[in-house]
Amino acid sequence: MEAKLCSNSKCLKKGLLQDISNFHKKRLGYDARCKICVNERKKLSRLKDKKKIYKEFDIRLSMPSEERFVEVLATLIE
Ligand SMILES: [Zn+2]
Repeated sequence: MEAKLCSNSKCLKKGLLQDISNFHKKRLGYDARCKICVNERKKLSRLKDKKKIYKEFDIRLSMPSEERFVEVLATLIE
């Protein structure tokens, strides 16, 4: 059984050897971060995207009408 350390300094299992099955397999070897950390990171980046969208609306719209809302949304999606 192979074991590996997660490279993330904030990992829940920091400093603990984890089973290799806790790491995503890559073309060359395994991911440096364990699956838990990779998932956590994905979650965070999704949240950041949402925050960014809200910020855009704050800046561009003080009283968003439905038309304007769709308009701005379209520019964000592009
Ligand atoms: Zn980790």
